[in-house]
Amino acid sequence: LAYYFKQIKNNEHLNAFNEVFFYSAEVQADVVQKKIEEGTQGKLAGMIIGIKDNICYKDHIVTASSKMLDGFVSPYSSTVVQRLLQEDAIIIGRLNCDEFAMGGSNETSYFGAVGNAVNPELVPGGSSGGSAVAVQADMCLAALGTDTGGSVRQPAAFCGQIGLKPTYGRISRYGVIAYASSFDQVGPITSSVEDAALLLQVLAGADDHDSTVSSLSVPDYPAHLNSSKKQKIAVLKETIDSEALDPEIKAAILKSIEELKAKGHAVEYVSFDLLDYLVPAYYILTTAEASSNLSRYDGVHYGHRNTEAKSLNELYKLSRAEGFGDEVKRRILLGTFVLSAGYYDAYYQKAQQVRRLIREKLDVLFEDYDLILSPVAPTPAFKIGDNMQDPLVMYMADIFTVLPSLSGNPAIALPLGNNESGLPLSIQFIAKHFEEDQLLAFSHAFL
Ligand code: GLN
Repeated sequence: LAYYFKQIKNNEHLNAFNEVFFYSAEVQADVVQKKIEEGTQGKLAGMIIGIKDNICYKDHIVTASSKMLDGFVSPYSSTVVQRLLQEDAIIIGRLNCDEFAMGGSNETSYFGAVGNAVNPELVPGGSSGGSAVAVQADMCLAALGTDTGGSVRQPAAFCGQIGLKPTYGRISRYGVIAYASSFDQVGPITSSVEDAALLLQVLAGADDHDSTVSSLSVPDYPAHLNSSKKQKIAVLKETIDSEALDPEIKAAILKSIEELKAKGHAVEYVSFDLLDYLVPAYYILTTAEASSNLSRYDGVHYGHRNTEAKSLNELYKLSRAEGFGDEVKRRILLGTFVLSAGYYDAYYQKAQQVRRLIREKLDVLFEDYDLILSPVAPTPAFKIGDNMQDPLVMYMADIFTVLPSLSGNPAIALPLGNNESGLPLSIQFIAKHFEEDQLLAFSHAFL
């Protein structure tokens, strides 16, 4: 613990932590130490873990990196935190992220941007940017992020780490601040596949507090790690041929396709003609859900409250105007618009239909293939400030990660070494629903 506290201190300039839990981490460490001496410790005994600042931990502040929740103390723990603690992990602090997890660069945080440890002038990706940097700079052993449309995988990719988005319904969302509830999933960011497997094993599985969690039994992921078989892999042709794809990422992926073939996997190019519909469908559906989820922040129930309002309506308006940042407001407006009477059929309902088509298309592909391969992001980490002027540029960068978010499939970002300037490159594999065991075993053999 002292080592990680020192690492955090040495890397303060990266702004990865919104708060370090000095006191509760020490207390937990003492408890775990005793258990280890008695031989009664849990599966994660001594693992030092950071959590994204949108995951509730009883009696600790949780803000979603928003002024709206600045100083808000959670009255209960999320299921994921409960499960970490039950297995004797030590939670070291809460990590910076985009405001309400809306963003792909960690620049929308009320608490400021996070620097990539490779070069602090570059973004770490987002929205779980603090989580990725904390693991990258060894400020904790592993971190939890949340992934709605890529927020675990893309920052992991930008920071050279492993990011796993489990199947929708694998891990409980209870106590995780909602962005878009039919997409949100908690996922680990780690530097090894072993750690990802161990964490998933502890976090996954049914929960009385979240009815969307599957009751399927949880495999022993760590025990399956060495059981990887030869896979049939579909490469989504349009993603590799995409003009937006950085040439160095493309070259690294093509090289790794050759290596996969040499290892005896069957790799084939398949066409995926729905690529252009992914980002529009994702942003219509997620902003719709967000506008509804964020209606609870009204200045009365939670968080920031304006003190000068003369009427209830004014209280709502001023509290929300002051509490939310620009990106969050943009999405609430967009989501309210696509749900409004008269536009609902044209946007929201249409996007739901597109989501169904995407899901069906992937199900058909998975009848013939075990895994789907694509890039994670079109570019490596970019400069802080570069993409913030134009929200559409930022949204379009989600093109490859939102596919499994729309379909609910599990997906992993794996590091592919660095480019010539030392920036991490990455590759994405998508698996069948609830086949994280296969995905992790394959990843283990791949790295
Ligand atoms: N960049 C995407 C968005 O802004 C993904 C965010 C996320 O997964 N939380 O919606």
